[in-house]
Amino acid sequence: MKACVFTLGCKMNEVESASLMRGLEARGYETTNELGYADLYLLNTCAVTAEAERKSRQAVARMRKFNPAAPVVVCGCASEQNAEAFLEKEGVVLVLGAQNKGKVLNILEKRGIFRETERSFCELPYPKQTKTRAFLRIQDGCNRFCSYCLIPYLRGRTRSRSAESVLAEAKSCGAKEIVLTGIDISSYRDGEIGLGELLLLLKDVPARIRLGSLEEGIVDEKFLLQMKEAGNVAPHFHLSLQSGSTAVLKAMNRRYTREEYLACCRKIYEFFPDAAITTDIIVGFPDETDEDFEESLSVIGEARFARVHCFPFSSRPGTVAAKKQDLPAAVKKERMGRISEVAKRAETAYISRFLGTERTVLFEEDGGYSENYIRVYAAGAAEGMLARVKLLRSYRDGAFAEITEVIK
Ligand code: SF4
Repeated sequence: MKACVFTLGCKMNEVESASLMRGLEARGYETTNELGYADLYLLNTCAVTAEAERKSRQAVARMRKFNPAAPVVVCGCASEQNAEAFLEKEGVVLVLGAQNKGKVLNILEKRGIFRETERSFCELPYPKQTKTRAFLRIQDGCNRFCSYCLIPYLRGRTRSRSAESVLAEAKSCGAKEIVLTGIDISSYRDGEIGLGELLLLLKDVPARIRLGSLEEGIVDEKFLLQMKEAGNVAPHFHLSLQSGSTAVLKAMNRRYTREEYLACCRKIYEFFPDAAITTDIIVGFPDETDEDFEESLSVIGEARFARVHCFPFSSRPGTVAAKKQDLPAAVKKERMGRISEVAKRAETAYISRFLGTERTVLFEEDGGYSENYIRVYAAGAAEGMLARVKLLRSYRDGAFAEITEVIK
């Protein structure tokens, strides 16, 4: 959790803010005195001039640009002078004036403002699902603030389920495949336990573990080695891309370049040569030029995607991207048509690579998935059957196979 203590005015204010930061750190917050993204804002105001007062009021709006969901607490001279001017601002949850600074942290504690910023993971009863494939929630919320996305505003900051609780549900759900799900599972953290360590804890669960959508930053050598060591994790990486153009990625506030993303794919293939890398691509983002779009087309072949989910950009009011001029619908439609064809060809090429090879498939009601995410159909398959199969030919959205061994 991050707290920003922003200070205007005199040396006295600075010293008092430094004390507040120390107190916040003692309560487990990472602190900063510079305006930027935070989960809690403390504004120490100044009223020495009318200009100082104006800047103090403006600071609230500047904070809300970084994180509209975070509570803002105001103290200091300007708020003593005119509390109403702050109270009427959206996001301000408390105005304390200049005389209560020694009690600020105690008051925040009593008012539950620390609890509000912690926003712990909300446990829910086990969902109703089949014994074949279970979806297990391990995380909620997101801190990434991609410029087109409302999720961080709607679901709040990232928080993780305790590893103990994840393990208990994984052991008791009885499913043959468990899909670890969340909004941003790459950010999973329970103390020292990140996603890689969680996979190691799940290695003795008698189920195939599949990962939900991942962000590029998680894939490093350590994580891939942890996946290998766990031994029961499907080599399937749904690695969100969103655009093949570094310029568009920057406008989207994604935190990697095209080259970094491709390097990440190469690293995955080095550790898991048969891996399925699937992705999402947004078509017609407001800044996307023809050249940018060509880069989205070409990255599909370069990354050797197994499947690409393409969708046209849709403006979400309240996001940064919504302030930009939308591209004409006809441009988006034409680009969607072209990229869908390229994506289809990539999918067919991926399936063809594995024809004639053996894979392990968990069958559902109508077909099933191989460990590397090929949809497989076979005569004699039944729901819940885990089997080794030989892929014979392309069929429907995947491959037709013959069962060579029923595992369970
Ligand atoms: S697109 Fe995904 S990573 Fe980006 S802000 Fe939305 S939920 Fe978070």
